[in-house]
Amino acid sequence: MIEKGAVLGWYFMYMPIGRDPDFEIMLTPEQRKYMWQRTTKIRNEKPIVIADFWNDGPITDGCLAGGRRYVHITADCHVEPCAFVHFRRPEDSIREKSLLKVLKESELFNAMRARQDPAYESNPMRPCWIVDRPWALREVVREVSADASEAGSAHLMDEKIANELDRRAKAWEPVANEIWESIQRYNRKYDRIAEIAQGNIQNLDDIKEDLL
Ligand code: SF4
Repeated sequence: MIEKGAVLGWYFMYMPIGRDPDFEIMLTPEQRKYMWQRTTKIRNEKPIVIADFWNDGPITDGCLAGGRRYVHITADCHVEPCAFVHFRRPEDSIREKSLLKVLKESELFNAMRARQDPAYESNPMRPCWIVDRPWALREVVREVSADASEAGSAHLMDEKIANELDRRAKAWEPVANEIWESIQRYNRKYDRIAEIAQGNIQNLDDIKEDLL
């Protein structure tokens, strides 16, 4: 692809929304971990910009949805949290008010943004309301009485599907924690090296744990 002139690549993974979602083709934790490793390797070795819509949470500081960094505007002018999260409050429409007003006043977006606080969302490798924290999505949908805007999202609230999503999200959690710890270790090490280079650290014994 690079030889043919590609300069940008974007990884997406299957999301269990839409008509007849098939859980069997969702990524396993091992496959998602491999995707993260592969993206990191390509970034280190190839002249191409690569984005990974789910595993780049550490770069974007977690989920972007709910107006934190972006929204999804449907063909009928409703504003929804994300291109994959098809829930809405009926008054969140740019036919009724400005986009800025929707962003400020939406009960749904405000409930989501309150839960995007780092204290709540402590691991940015688990950013997603659908696949990583489906219980949190159900909680806000119930809290603000949001409507599903298409049948393929309404099922996210069904008990059987909710249980399956929760089970898969819980399986990803320890793997995501391990990756996030390794990223934090890496960042600490390079922060310390920068401090040494700037002459801000005199005694290497004080930071040897961070350099291991
Ligand atoms: S809800 Fe999921 S798919 Fe949507 S922006 Fe957040 S992480 Fe991405």
